[in-house]
Amino acid sequence: INFNKAEFILSAVQPGAFLRDGRPQVAFAGRSNVGKSSVINRLLNRKNFARVGATPGKTTQVNYFLIDGRIYFTDLPGYGYAKVSKEERDRWGRLMENYFQEQGLITLGVLIVDARHKPTADDVTMCTWFKESGCPLIVVANKLDKLKKNEIEPNLQRIWDTLELPDTAALIPFSAEKGIGKTELLSAIEQLC
Ligand code: GDP
Repeated sequence: INFNKAEFILSAVQPGAFLRDGRPQVAFAGRSNVGKSSVINRLLNRKNFARVGATPGKTTQVNYFLIDGRIYFTDLPGYGYAKVSKEERDRWGRLMENYFQEQGLITLGVLIVDARHKPTADDVTMCTWFKESGCPLIVVANKLDKLKKNEIEPNLQRIWDTLELPDTAALIPFSAEKGIGKTELLSAIEQLC
């Protein structure tokens, strides 16, 4: 898969617009500001492809990027942003409920968490949805560059334990800023798609 060949396809605001054309889909999820756009941009060698620093939580939509004409990167709307209205939060919940309910949409789940922190209750919920969907799951611990060396191992263990990851899951230490973990994540994506 040539990850340098990526094009934006569409934003789905309603479940009816979810893409279902049989191509494998890699679903990216994460808390607002965790660096989800930065991770996607890093994987695709782009600067401002997936939007970075957009008003967090403002856009409740599923964005589709077609990679090399072969697989989709499905960018799920961020969650956990405090200043979001109840209406917006409900919209997010309905959209995600529909997304995870639909069988066969997700080929591979990529949950992005902050390497510095214990996963939030929202992270745990999102992780449960991925686990229940039955897809393979990769957890990306982003912002690794912000950790001291001796913090890395205990933090990764805390993420693993808090999310109650199954043995089949993978946890990849990552830095969208420095490019750490990129090769590992890309080869996992290629293998699982
Ligand atoms: P999103 O809301 O999850 O899409 O997050 P963004 O990609 O917009 O990133 C949020 C902020 O975190 C931005 O200021 C990024 O520059 C910063 N950021 C993202 N990834 C990293 C990383 O790996 N290391 C550091 N130090 N900062 C990062």
